[in-house]
Amino acid sequence: MTYKLQILPGDGIGPEIMTEAEKIISWLNANKDIEIQTTRGLIGGAAIDEYGVPLSDETLEESRKSHAVLLGAVGGPKWADVEYTIRPEAGLLKIRKELGLFANLRPALVFDALVDASTLKPEIVKGLDILIVRELTGGVYFGQPRGIEDLGNGQRRGVNTQVYTTEEIQRVGRVAFELARKRGNKVTSCEKANVMESGKLWREDITSLHQAEYKDVTLEHMYADNCAMQLLRNPSQFDVIVTDNLFGDILSDEAAMLTGSLGMLPSASLGQPGSTGLYEPVHGSAPDIAGQGKANPLATILSLAMCLRYSFNRGDLASKIEDAVQTILNDGTRTPDIMAPGCTQTSTSGMGDALITQLEKTGKKEQAA
Ligand code: NAD
Repeated sequence: MTYKLQILPGDGIGPEIMTEAEKIISWLNANKDIEIQTTRGLIGGAAIDEYGVPLSDETLEESRKSHAVLLGAVGGPKWADVEYTIRPEAGLLKIRKELGLFANLRPALVFDALVDASTLKPEIVKGLDILIVRELTGGVYFGQPRGIEDLGNGQRRGVNTQVYTTEEIQRVGRVAFELARKRGNKVTSCEKANVMESGKLWREDITSLHQAEYKDVTLEHMYADNCAMQLLRNPSQFDVIVTDNLFGDILSDEAAMLTGSLGMLPSASLGQPGSTGLYEPVHGSAPDIAGQGKANPLATILSLAMCLRYSFNRGDLASKIEDAVQTILNDGTRTPDIMAPGCTQTSTSGMGDALITQLEKTGKKEQAA
């Protein structure tokens, strides 16, 4: 089977980090581990410059034809003044919406070698492995009515609407329960059922889904504000957290920072089983370091690993890449963002090369065994 992967490097450091992910893809192809056929396209500012819109219909059509999309990052000061509806980030919202990517998966994993990079005490974050599943296409970011209206008396009013249906809640809940079964078998569902009707519905619908299909998984409900506190107090109590678009946006950023480095955090956005998945690092386009060889490519490479696991059904290759990352970090190979005393600083491409060397070494050991 040949897998089709669309590569959308985007802006800023996007092209640099993507080059390193492409090295890994070439290595996998050359090794005959898997056959990945790639196409390239533009998104964000790069697409605005070329087509006048942050995501063209042709690019989106190619996304639909692919098994998965690997995206770098979008945005930057160059496009700060473009019209709001065609800003670079609108390309991201559009591709997520058009591909029906309703579940956003963000692991917060603390690598042993980076335990000191967290602002929390090492004993709190050591071994941490949380997966946040955020609803991505509904809720207050999309609900109607929305807008800013002039009240005519010198006052204006801004409106957004939080709205969820049972179907939207249960399809993301199902993703969380399924993933929990393959991990620690526990789901924490977060909302504000105490003050929001949409939260009350969320709690009821997750509970009935659990009763009907997932009684073997431990389910706990938590108010989102308490979850924000518990993530700092005792993060290892969590396995899978499932929550809505708004709370998920905030809680996943908070969980991400437990790991200490934005350059290490991958993400996946999934729709119905078998549809195109989108994989991207959590960080942005980092214009402050773009073009300087300082960007950490590991978040993008770990996103590729998620793609292998979830879209190409090759968890074995994903683990191979994740193990190689663990090893080179243990050996002290570091880009500037994760540099620590006693380690060796390397560049964006140096990190990609170190990973290939490590994959080669593991491959030779496996052959010898
Ligand atoms: P950012 O994530 O780009 O950068 C925040 C800080 O982290 C910067 O100091 C940056 O140098 C550093 N950083 C980020 N990724 C890194 C990496 N791989 N290696 C080393 N250091 C890294 O966030 P920002 O500065 O708030 O936003 C910059 C631009 O990116 C804005 O235009 C914003 O809208 C956009 N953005 C895009 C996405 C996305 O494409 N998904 C997400 C967030 C922000």
